[in-house]
Amino acid sequence: MMKATCHDYELTLRHTFRIARSATDLAENVLVLVEHGGLTGVGEAHPNDYHGEDHHRVHSALELFCRWLPGHPAFADPLDSVSFENQKPKIENLLKSLPPEVAAIRGAVGALDMALHDLVGQMVGKPLWELFGADPAKAPVTSFTIGIAPVPVMQEKVREAERYPLLKIKVGTGRDLEILEGIRAVTDKPLRVDANAAWTVEEAIRNIRAIEPFGIEFIEQPIPPGDPGGLRRIREAVSTPIIVDESVATSADLPPLAGAADGINIKLMKCGGLQEARRMLGLARSLGLKVMLGCFVESSVAITAAAHLSPLVDYADLDGHLLIANDPYDGVALDPAGRLLLPDRPGLGLLPRA
Ligand code: MG
Repeated sequence: MMKATCHDYELTLRHTFRIARSATDLAENVLVLVEHGGLTGVGEAHPNDYHGEDHHRVHSALELFCRWLPGHPAFADPLDSVSFENQKPKIENLLKSLPPEVAAIRGAVGALDMALHDLVGQMVGKPLWELFGADPAKAPVTSFTIGIAPVPVMQEKVREAERYPLLKIKVGTGRDLEILEGIRAVTDKPLRVDANAAWTVEEAIRNIRAIEPFGIEFIEQPIPPGDPGGLRRIREAVSTPIIVDESVATSADLPPLAGAADGINIKLMKCGGLQEARRMLGLARSLGLKVMLGCFVESSVAITAAAHLSPLVDYADLDGHLLIANDPYDGVALDPAGRLLLPDRPGLGLLPRA
């Protein structure tokens, strides 16, 4: 018999984190623990306000799940109903049996999907990367994000980020050229730029052309979602690849982006977990889209879950746990070159911190 508990967990940021539309000092996440046969799977939800979720809705959905779970036949024995080998993604079937009030909240489903994967991985004694057919030696380097601040403060953050070889710079301010000039003055590292939907099509073309000489690997979400034609115009006018983030949540959002963008940013909290993330990954490949794995302000629980998929993607931006001061677990680590080092313990491979 499975049982589950959930509790709020407030993540404290080391520095205020500012993007084009908002600023944050803490994240009100929810941890869920799913127990079976003496093993415990852990999941984490970060409420994704951009897609209409908040802490209350996520917490209520997970509490409802915890009350609903005991005695529910589909969840009687997770191994009975889960197989990775026969191509039937049965964790998905479990998730499909969720009450609609839970299923509607993607952050909650994402946390449950993660906890079930962790549990099943522990039951079969294998790390998730192995169950996903991923080679941990191919895990990518993660970028480290520099939030918006006055240029001297951003320069100081770049100096503090010395150990991270790849930086993602947040822009969308009206002084973006000044920001990129300031960053380039203090580092030669490869840079990614995220405008978080702040520009118009015309601004995007002008700004991207202006910053291209600084050597930008790609631009993330130049314009608001819902305008594939606008993305296409930008993509034709500039030479830097365009990756979309706010424009995509689940695989249903992908087809209109074929040819309009170079790639997509998959986040477990937007799509509802590892099952849907794997489906998006497959569809993105079919549509000729590159894949990035991103995150919100999350602890090592959710970051490690995404990291288990990272050998299968092109770019990783899995730094949420590096931005916080009170991570409750150890999980994915970084090697000296900034590459994601996946745990080889079963499941997610998390260890609680003292
Ligand atoms: Mg982004």
